[in-house]
Amino acid sequence: MNLDKKLSTLKYTPDENSHLKPTQEDCVSCKTRSCINACPAGVYEWLENENKLLVKYENCLECGACRIICAKHSLNWEYPKGTKGVTFKKG
Ligand code: SF4
Repeated sequence: MNLDKKLSTLKYTPDENSHLKPTQEDCVSCKTRSCINACPAGVYEWLENENKLLVKYENCLECGACRIICAKHSLNWEYPKGTKGVTFKKG
């Protein structure tokens, strides 16, 4: 089962604003960008042409891995507000 198929088993209620706020200046100078590989949902993508980190926060599973692995400790991470965010249908 590929990632898209697995993610389709979840329900998301996206907030209007991202609950994941990287400090883009730190992302530019980061040598690892470990968040890209650590995220099980493929939330992060480095945009070479724009020199910035794309954050598809609507797909976040709220696992916290990116917050822990950020080499610069500069990711402002909060849970989505109220009833927004992910709902696990299967437990
Ligand atoms: Fe990805 Fe987990 Fe970070 Fe959400 S909390 S962006 S799922 S690593």
